[in-house]
Amino acid sequence: MATIPTVKLNDGHEIPQLGYGVFKVPPADTQRAVGEALEVGYRHIDTAAIYGNEAGVGAAIAASGIPRDELFITTKLWNDRHDGDEPNAAIAESLDKLGIEQVDLYLVHWPTPVHDNYVHAWAKLVELRDQGLTRSIGVSNHLVPHLERIVAATGVVPAVNQIELHPAYQQRPITEWAAANDVRIESWGPLGQGKYDLFGADPVVAAAEAHGKTPAQAVLRWHLEKGFIVFPKSVRRERLEENLDVFDFELTDSEVAAIDAMEKPDGSGRVSAHPDEVN
Ligand code: NAD
Repeated sequence: MATIPTVKLNDGHEIPQLGYGVFKVPPADTQRAVGEALEVGYRHIDTAAIYGNEAGVGAAIAASGIPRDELFITTKLWNDRHDGDEPNAAIAESLDKLGIEQVDLYLVHWPTPVHDNYVHAWAKLVELRDQGLTRSIGVSNHLVPHLERIVAATGVVPAVNQIELHPAYQQRPITEWAAANDVRIESWGPLGQGKYDLFGADPVVAAAEAHGKTPAQAVLRWHLEKGFIVFPKSVRRERLEENLDVFDFELTDSEVAAIDAMEKPDGSGRVSAHPDEVN
């Protein structure tokens, strides 16, 4: 079974750099899919309250028999629960569905600036961490102005920012801010959610062929070599295995540079929603 490297967070905890994300995994299929992911060697699961499948993740964790301290579980606070004590209730519900007493990482899912309450939500996550309900805290889909505001208000720097990131959309202002402020980047949609022909692009095909790997594996390797944390999604066992089989090769500097150059201009490579528009 592959040994998955870990990345050290700014609070001293370690996170497996590769995990399994369960966005759009149907609730009825989640226990099976997560169970298979655990069987083939994944130990880091990324879910969210809004995915509606935390109970399936919890059932798979319980059935696996894997000691809790060998697993890394992330879930997220949904957008309509930023206010008042809603974050306290939300994490209690998530923990109940997951069947665990503490998550490893809890994230503010989107800043939803239209509601302008993400600073309060972040301050509540600091409290939840201090209460031991989550070991680490972070954010998702936060742009640089959002990040600067939550840090200025609380003095607490998120451990991670989970953002859409793949070769066509590299979010350089955010990754540069994160590097300067000791925040790890988690790439969501690391394979571009299958919405454009990433796997047919020349630099990806060339890198894959040079190493006897698939285009998906070459793209995942690009993320890993940039230091990003990834959790590609699939419900097919052979793809779960393929996406984990990325630790026996490295891209050369020129292969990484060629994939870097695939970024589309002016943010046009984005495949999902813009954080300022999600509410
Ligand atoms: P992804 O880039 O991982 O793409 C998933 C799709 O790629 C799958 O549906 C599958 O069709 C295809 N795929 C997977 N492995 C493949 C392979 N080896 N070969 C060919 N095709 C393959 O997109 P995603 O699921 O959106 O992102 C991964 C995870 O990121 C999610 O499951 C979720 O945990 C997280 N996420 C977070 C947010 C957020 O707002 N924080 C948003 C979206 C996703």
